Amino acid sequence: LARGSALKQLSTQGRLYAVQRSGLSSLVFVETKGSGIEEGALNAISAARKLSGPVTAVVAGSEADAAAKTVAKIEGVDKVVVAKDAMFDHALPETTASLLKALQEKEGSTHIFAPHSAAGKNVMPRLAALLDSQQISDIVAIEGEDTFVRPVYAGNAIATVKTSDAIKILTVRTTSFPAAVYSDAASATEEVAPTIDASPLSKWVKEDVAKSDRPDLAAAKRVVSGGRAVKSSEGFKIIYDLADKIGAAVGASRAAVDAGYCDNSLQVGQTGRIVAPELYIAIGISGAIQHLAGMKDSKVIVAINKDADAPIFQLADYGLVGDLFTIVPELMEKV
Ligand code: FAD
Repeated sequence: LARGSALKQLSTQGRLYAVQRSGLSSLVFVETKGSGIEEGALNAISAARKLSGPVTAVVAGSEADAAAKTVAKIEGVDKVVVAKDAMFDHALPETTASLLKALQEKEGSTHIFAPHSAAGKNVMPRLAALLDSQQISDIVAIEGEDTFVRPVYAGNAIATVKTSDAIKILTVRTTSFPAAVYSDAASATEEVAPTIDASPLSKWVKEDVAKSDRPDLAAAKRVVSGGRAVKSSEGFKIIYDLADKIGAAVGASRAAVDAGYCDNSLQVGQTGRIVAPELYIAIGISGAIQHLAGMKDSKVIVAINKDADAPIFQLADYGLVGDLFTIVPELMEKV
């Protein structure tokens, strides 16, 4: 019987019976942001809660003790393991994956979750290799302890995958699971993580963070995105103006980003951010599948495009056909 196996097979009078093991348990990697946490962890915790068994959150970094106090107040977290050490800052994969491996071994965890964020995508493949398990990425639903649903071909098909690996390594599409909530009634126990001996091959040098007073793209309830049709970085101002008028985050197509009209952190799509706001306004964006992959789960989609046959109109709830430089100022006057 493999350690961590979810099914125990017993042979009785020549027949095989599958007995559900009661021992499922999940680890969730919580990325810290100073003494706070990255919000995607809340969605990963909700995903872990869909399985039976306790949920242990792993918080690592030089201010992990403060972050752990926050995590202990999240509903659905049974235990918080705290690794207070600067070597875990910035979630370098060598150190973080070694920590998660040590914890999996200590706890006998059957499932390990992380958000499908830059950090999750960086750490989890290394962890999967260390644990000799196949990672299942970007899951949007959980159908059972070994069966998960994930989009493939830029969201044009949905695959249901079943794994026979004893330890399941999963990254979670955060827009597909609700955020776990904070509650004063929640009080997870806290435990100090085992010391690990990691000798990192990489080191963190610096980061250039785009600062913005606008809402964060991934969490915003409204997003206004501009495409190639805005023509220049000056032209992109019309997108910022409309976004500011309605309190929205700003997004962009890859064509707009590649042309240098805006920062590449704004890119929405297969190779950019995945968003699912209540309102998504696509301005001068044709609706290529790679763009749709990042926004098609938005609740209400509005498209502004001068070509009535642009593919974006097949997805849009509301469409305005015309020149964006005429329509957007008019729209701003009216809202
Ligand atoms: P275009 O396709 O050029 O469309 C511009 C639109 O603006 C047209 O529909 C046009 O009718 C309209 N228009 C022009 N002038 C006006 C005007 N004055 N008023 C109103 N409308 C006007 N793309 C992404 O967005 N995100 C991704 O993550 C992404 N990842 C990719 C990954 C791969 C592997 C590949 C191959 C491609 C990827 N792409 C991605 C690129 C994608 O295929 C498209 O090229 C891109 O989305 C096109 O951007 P766009 O709609 O702004 O430009």
